[in-house]
This record gives sequence, structure tokens and C-alpha cells, in this order.
Amino acid sequence: MKILGIESSCDESALSLIEIDKNRIKLLKNLISSQVEIHKQFGGIVPEVAARHHAENFFPLLKELDINIKTDVDLIAVTYGPGLITSLVIGLELGKTLSYIYKKPLIPINHIEAHIYSNWLTHNELFDKKKTFPVLAVVISGGHTQIFLMKNYGKYKLLGETVDDAVGEAYDKVAKILNLSYPGGPIINKLSLEFTEKPSFEFPRPMINTKDFNFSFSGLKTSVLYKWRDEKREKNQELIKEYCNAFENAVCDVLSKKIIRAAKKYNVKNIILGGGVSANSSIRNRISNDTQKLNIKTYFPEIKHTGDNAAMIAITGYFNINKKKKNNFKITADPNLKLPAC
Ligand code: AMP
Ligand code: MG
Repeated sequence: MKILGIESSCDESALSLIEIDKNRIKLLKNLISSQVEIHKQFGGIVPEVAARHHAENFFPLLKELDINIKTDVDLIAVTYGPGLITSLVIGLELGKTLSYIYKKPLIPINHIEAHIYSNWLTHNELFDKKKTFPVLAVVISGGHTQIFLMKNYGKYKLLGETVDDAVGEAYDKVAKILNLSYPGGPIINKLSLEFTEKPSFEFPRPMINTKDFNFSFSGLKTSVLYKWRDEKREKNQELIKEYCNAFENAVCDVLSKKIIRAAKKYNVKNIILGGGVSANSSIRNRISNDTQKLNIKTYFPEIKHTGDNAAMIAITGYFNINKKKKNNFKITADPNLKLPAC
């Protein structure tokens, strides 16, 4: 079975073609046109600008994909939420149009679910249902920080989420405070690793001891803001590295503690992370080390599948095959789409 994935929920226009044969995934094509350089000048994503570029990007991408949709595609999977409404509609309408012209069934995809399933693109053993579930699925991205208990494919119970900023949003805002470029996550990650000593100060770990599985990152960001504003030392590169390291330590502590507590409480067999922030090497190392002690296996997507991409949309189509419909043209984009509770 060959599935064409289409993604445009934020500032990445992406197309991918995957082939699934007896639970073996072949990534046949994977194209992403990122707008990072365009939005850098604004220090964040401007929705109208993003939408305009999606509209301009998709046809050249389709040409570059260079496939015969009539013969090379069985199904089309397209993101319909959550995300920026103006961005979502561009990919969704492309999906509907291709589905109509080539008479291929269309499957609407939840972008958050796709970040979770991005792990199935690489870790073949996850197809072994008995060994995989129950799973703790953690999405850490620019727009979301959520922990789900997943008892089976498509069965989600939201255990906790951020009550304010998403973790990626905190990374990007802290980078702005420290006069670093956009997006801030990868830059803070790199600078933090270059600081090899113990920082001379600590930032607070908001909500680390609350009994729920919620997070708060806005207060942490504000602590960085005030400390940086009142800083008496010379604001040189070394000091920026120290701030990055202290910030990342706080993020790792909070994420790891909550994830481990949820994993123990719900007695999960595996932990799966996904989303742009799951590319972070400090977070990967910390959570892998902490969970190893519990004998729970932790999975991360390949780095290329952590950010928004269409391969994860295509594989999520495979797990939602029951939703495939011909003439599925009534789907509308939903910027606040949630994963169905069970
Ligand atoms: P997404 O929302 O899934 O598209 O991911 C984008 C978010 O991931 C942005 O907030 C980035 O700053 C963040 N991000 C990407 N790479 C890293 C990294 N290595 N460390 C921390 N955050 C990252
Ligand atoms: Mg995303």
C-alpha cells in the first residue's frame, strides 16, 4: 500500500510517499519546504505570510515529487488540525483536489497523533502490539506539551498538558530574551552543550512537585527574563551559554520527573516522544538515562522526523485506514482539533 502524505499545519509545506508492506515501512519520497528563513526576520511565524508561501510552495513540491498519483498512490492522508487555520486550509484543499481528480480515498489526519506515530516510521518493533502497549506518548513541540496514555492504536487518554506556554514556545521566547536567532530550540541546545561546568545559578522548576501531569513553562521563561534584565555580569557569549545550560537543566528536570511518574503510575511498557523539541539532545539523553533505570524503553523519532513532516502524516493514515472515504470533501480544517478521548 502506498500513501501520499500532505502537511501544512504551520510553516512547513511537506509531501511524502511511503510504502507499507507487512508492517515494513519504505520512505519512498520525503520533501519539505521550510519557511524558517522567511519567518526569522519577524522572530516568529506570521500566519498570513506562512499561508501565502504554502500556496506558492505546493505545486513546485508536487512537481519535484515526480510521481504518477494515478498509479503510485493508493490513499491520500492530509493534516486537518490542529495548527494555523490559514496554513491548514492550503494543504487540506490540495488533498481534496488530488483526491477528487485521481479518485483516491482521503484520510483526514490529526497532526498531534502524527507526531506520536512518527516513531513507527523507524522503530519497526513498535508494530508488535503486545510488546508495545500500554505506551506513554509525549508530544513536545512549538505548540503542544502533552502526555497521553495510549492503550492501543488510536486510544488516547490525556494525562496532562501545559497550562500556559508549550515547551518549544519557551525555548523560542528564551532565545529571544538572550538575543539569539529563531527558532531558538536548536540554538539553545547547542550553546547549552558548550557550557561544560555546573551553572552558578538555577532557574525554578515550575509545577515539578504537583500531583498532576501538567506543566508550566511561562514562569520559567519569565525567570530567565528577570534574571537577564538584572544581570550585573558582562553579557558575553559564555554567560549566554550558562543561561542556556541552566534553562535546559530546568526543562529536563521537569519533563523527566513528570514523565517518569506517569510511566510508573500507569505501568507502561514503553515511552514514546515526538514533536520538534524531541530533537533536543539533552532531553533525549536525560529521559533515556532516567527511564533505563526503570527498565522502560524510550523511543524518539529520527531527527528528520521530529519537526513537521509529511511522512508522519502518511503513516498516521495507515493507522486510520478505517476513516478513508471517497468524496471526503466535507472535511474542514480545525485549528483546535483534539485527540479523541477514550
Ligand atoms: P514543531 O512545533 O513540532 O514544528 O517544532 C518546532 C519547535 O521545536 C520550535 O519551538 C523549535 O524551537 C523546537 N526545536 C527544534 N529543535 C529543537 C532542539 N534541538 N531543542 C529544543 N527545541 C527544539
Ligand atoms: Mg508540529
